Amino acid sequence: MTEQIRLLISRLAGGERLSRSEFQTLIEERDEESTALLRRHAVETRHRYFGRDVYIRGLVEVSSICKNDCYYCGIRASNRHAVRYRLDEDQILSCCDLGYELGLRTFVLQGGEDGYFTDERLCRLIERIKEAHPDCAITLSLGERSRESYALLKAAGADRYLLRHETADETHYAALHPAPLTLENRMRCLHDLRQLGYQVGCGFMVGSPGQTPWHLSKDLEFVSSFRPEMCGIGPFLPHHATPFASHSAGSADLTCYLLSILRLIYPPMLLPSTTALSTLCEDGREQGILSGANVVMPNLSPADVRAHYELYDGKKHSGAEAVCGLDELSRRMEAIGYRTVTARGDFNPHPQNEASNRQKG
Ligand code: SAH
Repeated sequence: MTEQIRLLISRLAGGERLSRSEFQTLIEERDEESTALLRRHAVETRHRYFGRDVYIRGLVEVSSICKNDCYYCGIRASNRHAVRYRLDEDQILSCCDLGYELGLRTFVLQGGEDGYFTDERLCRLIERIKEAHPDCAITLSLGERSRESYALLKAAGADRYLLRHETADETHYAALHPAPLTLENRMRCLHDLRQLGYQVGCGFMVGSPGQTPWHLSKDLEFVSSFRPEMCGIGPFLPHHATPFASHSAGSADLTCYLLSILRLIYPPMLLPSTTALSTLCEDGREQGILSGANVVMPNLSPADVRAHYELYDGKKHSGAEAVCGLDELSRRMEAIGYRTVTARGDFNPHPQNEASNRQKG
């Protein structure tokens, strides 16, 4: 590790905002030492803000039907082999009921952009979930919609919205998505969501086709200025029936390195250790947490549809990845010194762990 990198890491850990080119240097000169140093700072910061708590979100994959044709995604519209399913209102509600019994207090409804889910249907669904479980948070992850639609869903009770920006570079965005999808509209959505009062999550894939350290530095610069409440990142993993079938998978180590940087960029951010990371490597979930992540999102979808929400090959959906494996997940977190908690885990900009605060002086 050079002196320059040591200095960059120390400035980042001290709360300074780095420039795009500084982020690029940090990425390009990643080595064992810089990884260890970043991780140490990230974990310390994480402990100051969240202690050793890991928030759990129950993920309900409501539909594998999608009108979009993103080149990387297994449920893209042109994949004729994908098995399409859609959960109805009662099924989604039973998933939430089950999750509630297991102690979950956040439900993430994610799906393809399925026209069936009109504002009217979604609002009724959200109202029903909130009626049954008023102490729970609802996170939506249903892609791009109009500002009016986001406003209606918010009024119905939605609390948070996850919409990864995928890449902060326009040309790269166009290499990952066919028309009519544009980075401009993605950003419009993210800004609308923010203005409407949602807790907003953006994010990107690591190692997506055509991505370079320069692109990643733009992603970090974007997160650094947008300051989202949440940021989801995971390695790109190929799906056999997409144009990127033969592209290699992203790196777990680089994903973890970026998680540490993200923790330092904006300490109170909710950072999931994603399914893609644990699909790529056996102890991915743990590695993500040990790099600064503080959220896990086990799968709450009904067992018979889980395999069909196939964004990439080999997507994990059993054991600690699924809600029925919640005990295993908790054990695995405990084994590395963390504990899963049932709190709603809303965004909170202030350090929550006074003890370690005082220790730091
Ligand atoms: N339709 C919703 C949900 C998309 S799936 C939306 O547009 O937000 C959630 C995330 O999975 C995507 O944002 C993308 O970053 C990730 N994803 C999709 N295909 C992937 C792949 N092949 N490898 C890794 N991550 C992928």
